[in-house]
Amino acid sequence: MASLAFEPVPALEGRRRTPGLIVMKFGGTSVGDTEKLKRVAVRLVSAREAGAKVVAVLSAMGSTTDELIRLAHEVSPTPHPREYDMLVSTGERISNALCAMAIHDLGHEAVSFTGSQAGIVTDASHTKAKIVEVRAQRIHEALDANKIVLVAGFQGVSTSTHDVTTLGRGGSDTTAVALAAALGADVCEIFTDVEGVFTADPRLVPGALKLDAISYEEMLEMAASGAKVMMARSIEIARRYGVPLRVRSTFVDGDGTWIGEEDALVLEKAIVSGVTHDTSEAKVSIVGVPDRPGVAAQVFRELARAGVNIDMIVQNASQDGEAAISFTLPKTDVPTARPILDRVCGEIGARRWEPDEAIAKISLIGAGMKSHPGVAADMFDALAEAGINIEIISTSSIRVSCVIRRGRARRAGRARPVPAPLRRACRRPLSESASSARRARSAASRSSSCARGATSTCACSRPRAPPGSSSASGRSRRRRRRPSLPATSISSSSRSGRARRASSSRTPSPAARSRSTSRRPTASTRATRSSCRR
Ligand code: ASP
Ligand code: MG
Repeated sequence: MASLAFEPVPALEGRRRTPGLIVMKFGGTSVGDTEKLKRVAVRLVSAREAGAKVVAVLSAMGSTTDELIRLAHEVSPTPHPREYDMLVSTGERISNALCAMAIHDLGHEAVSFTGSQAGIVTDASHTKAKIVEVRAQRIHEALDANKIVLVAGFQGVSTSTHDVTTLGRGGSDTTAVALAAALGADVCEIFTDVEGVFTADPRLVPGALKLDAISYEEMLEMAASGAKVMMARSIEIARRYGVPLRVRSTFVDGDGTWIGEEDALVLEKAIVSGVTHDTSEAKVSIVGVPDRPGVAAQVFRELARAGVNIDMIVQNASQDGEAAISFTLPKTDVPTARPILDRVCGEIGARRWEPDEAIAKISLIGAGMKSHPGVAADMFDALAEAGINIEIISTSSIRVSCVIRRGRARRAGRARPVPAPLRRACRRPLSESASSARRARSAASRSSSCARGATSTCACSRPRAPPGSSSASGRSRRRRRRPSLPATSISSSSRSGRARRASSSRTPSPAARSRSTSRRPTASTRATRSSCRR
């Protein structure tokens, strides 16, 4: 079992709450053409007319960002990072400015801001900048002047260089959540083309179910293990500042999925709340590694220094003074890793290393695993029954991940025991979505007559309290539960801010086991570790 660790998140201490403020984020498909942009404008105006203060964060229209990146690569095989950010940040300026025009035509005041104008201050790392601060003065002034504020997502400005930066693909989620945290919004709503967070990718697993609610921790694990609903970093920020999140459809009325603190979710705890698959990673195996102290440190330090994002790591028990180390990394990082591994393998005296891109990672995620023994065994049984070989296993207190051959991912997602606990985890199967949409519509009409805006919307339309409902006791409880930052992490390049999970080979020797569990637990995992009987 490993510890959870966190990257530093923006310094938003001292922020003030803005009662009635709602941050609404719309993804690329939601603003895919001008008709859709006009529909978003109507939605923003309705929220304003219902009494909410509205800050909207829009992504670039449709595949604009992909197109801009394609152009950059047509001009240069390795686009200059500063100019790359200048270029790709324009997509969001277009959509936000157009939407502001549409709002004006609906008779409301609106103002669009670039990330820089909105006060999104980042570090200087182009193409993957981190928000370090939000200076929201202009937004507050615009809100005070009764304007609907539109902020270009995915971008900021570096204080050290004063240059435009971007936050990495999917970064508008992070813009929205950071703004919600900094402005003290009641809720951050993520509007997308699906009805919420599903137990599995519905394209892969027919009958995947929409979840009513899920904890930050589970959502973070899901995002980091391949679910594409939200950028993992945005969930870290939401969790750190207790921002209630709601993922919902732009096109279909519905309750969507609430994301909040586990103990604030008034839900029967799911044993397994999601299955994800990820085919974006490659596996590297280094064989014939001399079994002496410092070898792993050297390999992973050098990779981290080059910004290579390592995910699962497994080292087998040594035989005849030699061990083998395998790890996974994004396929896109393999070219960077190649020369480093060539060199380091020579230096440490390893026999050889080999990349393998034909893998998939399948993960089971659920907070209920902490108290339910046998989840991992069920998963391995299911894979065995489907004739699927497991190559690497790694776990956290609420996740079990297996690396398998890529061609088996679809089959693995459908393997037997998964659906049963999932069904228990969800109240409402997809087949009932028509009636739930009806219920949601009537709830929405109830809430739109509610003058208290966003918070009231949540409270009125849901019979149970939303996660992280903005009651004082809820807030203080969240604050108490928050882990200290930053906690231990095995690698500074840890993807999505999580520590790399301890990994084990299929039949770890006691030595390998102790290696894989020797990491220092954080306060939050220490408490759960003893109760985990997996
Ligand atoms: N437009 C950017 C992207 O496509 C940011 C976002 O959509 O969140 O990655
Ligand atoms: Mg997106």
